[in-house]
Parts: sequence; C-alpha cells; structure tokens
Amino acid sequence: MRHNPISPTIDFDKDGIQHGYLRLPHSRDDSAWGAVMIPVTQFKNGEGPTALMTGGNHGDEYEGPIALYNFASRTDIDNFHGRVIVIPAMNFPAFQAATRTSPVDQLNLNRIFPGRPDGSLSQVIADYFSRTLVPMADYVLDIHSGGKTLDFVPFAASHILDNKEQQSACEAAAKAFGAPHYLQMLEIDAAGLYDTMVEEAGKVFVTTELGGGGTSTPYTVEIARRGVDNFLIHAGILNADPTMPKHDSVSLDMPDFRSFIFSEHAGLVEPCVALGDVIREGDLVARIHSIERTSPEPPAEYRAPREGMVICRHVPSLIKIGDCLNVIAEVL
Ligand SMILES: [Zn+2]
Repeated sequence: MRHNPISPTIDFDKDGIQHGYLRLPHSRDDSAWGAVMIPVTQFKNGEGPTALMTGGNHGDEYEGPIALYNFASRTDIDNFHGRVIVIPAMNFPAFQAATRTSPVDQLNLNRIFPGRPDGSLSQVIADYFSRTLVPMADYVLDIHSGGKTLDFVPFAASHILDNKEQQSACEAAAKAFGAPHYLQMLEIDAAGLYDTMVEEAGKVFVTTELGGGGTSTPYTVEIARRGVDNFLIHAGILNADPTMPKHDSVSLDMPDFRSFIFSEHAGLVEPCVALGDVIREGDLVARIHSIERTSPEPPAEYRAPREGMVICRHVPSLIKIGDCLNVIAEVL
C-alpha cells in the first residue's frame, strides 16, 4: 500500500518531552506548498507501555482538547514510565472550524476508518492513525463529548468484544478513568469508527462522552483532567498521585437498540425529563410541538421504551425528523 504522506516533526523513539506536529501536505489557494499541522506531544521515559490519547476526533467537542492541551504542558518526565503520545485535536481542520466534520472534505473522521493514504485529507489522517500511531500503542483513549447537537451525562465506555479477555481489559480501563458513569456502550453503527479499528487491532481502548452542547463546563473539564491521569496510572505509565480522590462510577448498560429514541417529528422539543433522571418504561420523556401554526391538536408525545437513566438528550431545542432525541441506559 502507498506510503502515508504525513511526516511527524518529532522522533517517536527518542526519550524526553517533545512538542511538534504531524505535518500533512495540503496544497490550496492560500498556500501552494502548505500543510495541515496537527499538534502532537510525546512523553517518553525508558521502557514501558505506550498510551495514545486523543481529543478533537470531532471538531466541536471540547473536554478532550482542554484536558490534553493541559496535559501536554507537563514537565515532570520522571513521573512517566514508557511513552505517552498526546494529540489534543485529531481532526485539526474540523477543530479549527469548530465543526463536527472536516470543512476541507466534509468527512466525519470517526466514520471513515481505517482511512486511505491516497484519499482526501480526513482519509489520510485516519490512515496515519490506523497504520502508524495505533500499532505503536498498547492503550488508546479517545475523548468525545456530545458536540453541538447532543448532550450527555459524563461517562467513559467500552464495547462488547469477541475477545473476552480484551473486553475485560477495556472495561477495567474505562472504569479506572473514573468518570461519574461507566457505560457498556452499544453503537448505532460501529462500521468506520476509530473505536472499531483500534479494538480490531487488539488494543485496550476507552472512549468517553463527557458533556456536549458545543461547549464545556468546569465540572466536565475536571472529569477529563482526572480521567487522563487515572487512565495512565491504570496503564502503569504514570506514577499515582496519592492525594487524588478515588471515584466509583455508576455502571450502565445499553442491552439493545430500545435505548435510542429517534424523533419522527420536526419541531420544538419540550423536555419532560432531565439528564441523569432515572425513569420507568412508558414515562413521558418529551413533547414535540409543530412550530408552523398553533392548533388545538396536542404535541407529539415520546415515551420511554425502557426503564433506566436518561444519559443523552438532543440540543438545541429545535429538532428534525430522524434526530436522536434521548438515550436511556439500564442502571446496573
Ligand atoms: Zn464525538
């Protein structure tokens, strides 16, 4: 297969702290021989496992980038044993544009793995992760939040895998992240996800959803900050900080697709439950008002298809047909 055109400006084999770029040639109107420069930091101190930590897979999710730009500024290399590769904004063009998908090729990075070296910009980034970065890693953490159209209770998650030993290792790492909730997550469609590629490569993989709405809060940023440290301590790469408080996560499961509620109406959402509420099957979760006219007709009612915790809600308040309205997870 063709060589990937990305060249790193750091040396992945070298000890110490290095700040640099993944340099991806991008010839365009305002820069004939220009490049997309994706920031990367590496901490390496002797032998040990490698962790790869990313944010900004989607460009409008902020807890990951904030936690990882902060993490990248550390100078205490003596506390590391092994190697940590930090990429705060994986899909850098989307992050710069504050959009979920890339403004260059309109692709959703997290739907096109394993990517291709001779494809468009996002496909080349995906290929570089698939064939260069992920093979170097033992532990992989990808920090997501809801972005501009979803909002979540903060959780770290792992998936059901064919390899049960790998599944337990992923679950243990996700619980060690220490978010308020741990979720055994069911994906609407796992094809093309970074998650799926990393798991198929046999790595210990953790994903998160830490909030959303296209912004962040001190509460969710702190969860990400602690989670990054906890993940590396669990991997045996970072020395534990004995002053750090321990948090137990509430365990959640999505046993089947009844967890998802999709809107079959367009209009104005009147929420009847809040994120974190534990509800019963049949409870009213939302009413959707048609906005074109007032009428004696009642709004469309959406009821809970299962009991459990409301872990996701649609934002903003106007919704389209087909949008995800809520997600309800079983509390274990
Ligand atoms: Zn995301």
